Amino acid sequence: MSKSDLIIVGSGILGLATAFRAHQQGRRVHVIDRSARPVGSSIQNFGHACFTGQADAAQDLAMKSRAGWREVAAATGIWAAETGSFIPAMTEPELLILQEFADHRGPDQATMLSAEEVAAAIGNPSLGAIGGAHLPLDMRVDPREAAPAIADWLAREGVGFTWNTTVTEVAGGTVSTNRGDVHGEQVVVCPGYQLTSLFPRIAETHGVRICSLVMSLIERPQQTPTGFAMLTGTSLARYDGFAAMPGASALRKDLAQQEPELVDVIANLMVTDIADGLLIGDSHAYDLSPEPFIDERVADLLLNRATNILGIDAPVVRQRWLGRYADSTETNLILERPDEQTTVAVVTSGIGMTLSFGIADRILGGETVATGTRPAPHSSPLTPTAGEVVMSDR
Ligand SMILES: Cc1cc2nc3c(=O)[nH]c(=O)nc-3n(C[C@H](O)[C@H](O)[C@H](O)COP(=O)(O)OP(=O)(O)OC[C@H]3O[C@@H](n4cnc5c(N)ncnc54)[C@H](O)[C@@H]3O)c2cc1C
Repeated sequence: MSKSDLIIVGSGILGLATAFRAHQQGRRVHVIDRSARPVGSSIQNFGHACFTGQADAAQDLAMKSRAGWREVAAATGIWAAETGSFIPAMTEPELLILQEFADHRGPDQATMLSAEEVAAAIGNPSLGAIGGAHLPLDMRVDPREAAPAIADWLAREGVGFTWNTTVTEVAGGTVSTNRGDVHGEQVVVCPGYQLTSLFPRIAETHGVRICSLVMSLIERPQQTPTGFAMLTGTSLARYDGFAAMPGASALRKDLAQQEPELVDVIANLMVTDIADGLLIGDSHAYDLSPEPFIDERVADLLLNRATNILGIDAPVVRQRWLGRYADSTETNLILERPDEQTTVAVVTSGIGMTLSFGIADRILGGETVATGTRPAPHSSPLTPTAGEVVMSDR
């Protein structure tokens, strides 16, 4: 391999978004991954780009990322639905927080829906909601298609890819791998939750651990519209944009009383569709070395609640899996420069699909981010040193 302008470690969405932007800038880019194709967090998720639910201060970053997703979709031809997200309000506290959010952000970002409108939007006439909202700016991609297709497109455009190669050390433009050393002017390291093995000290400083999420894929009944994305009350308690509303504490109290089991498994109950069916999840469990087992009670709980809302009586489960992403007790973005030529970038929260293209711009702009403090257990602003980055967990 000849010397590259930029070597990127990791072919997940963050590495690929960075490769896409750097390629647009005319730089010679080479991507190295230990896998044979992208199989990390970036294919395990909902494909939900939840721009609107991010905190007010992250809206600039979110909108830049949205522009990036639209550009990459136009370039590569990947499916990218601009159908937004629907949120049925099943209780008064949910309706209140949606109304507060819609008043706060205005109709470009959130429109209130009647009970009948939200029932029609999610394809369940017997829903029994008391209202709802539509967030028109949110986007959807198929996570199983997006990263592999972007990698293929970049390879056809001349970006180099070395697969099945594990990077063991990065310093001063030298990338040491289990197949020998390679050199680049700059190196960007995006290893996701595997940061712990490549830069253990950075991982330890930020309290990086792995978040495991129970997910299912079910057959999509005809009544559920395509390009479908639904958030629920637990999502309203989790994303910083909604959680900043005055009604958030009443909502949390109500959820604790009405849905203790969902609260217990730290659920963010949501559903999106892909060509293969409906993606249903998720719960959150945190560990440095998580076990691989899926707790059937958790999977059933999420399936049951989601299909109740969707009016699906006999769901046909096609797949279950335990997704994983990097999490941190301290921050939701690690963006550090251990030396002049090396940048380490890891999204330590469940928002990497949403913000990847915005973060890629910041990586290439040479920005860094300091550790911030998480104000609440499941939402997490961070304090930047350059640029206001406040991002919302999901
Ligand atoms: C179940 C689930 C649901 C989610 N839902 C959403 C959602 O709806 N919206 C959203 O925005 N985000 C969501 N996320 C989070 C999102 O998927 C992640 O934040 C994002 O995919 C992280 O991308 P990445 O490129 O950093 O990591 P990854 O996709 O994990 O990629 C890292 C890559 O680095 C490679 N690598 C690691 N170490 C080395 C090494 N030493 N040498 C060579 N290669 C290496 C790996 O092989 C891997 O390919 C979800 C995540 C999960 C698991």
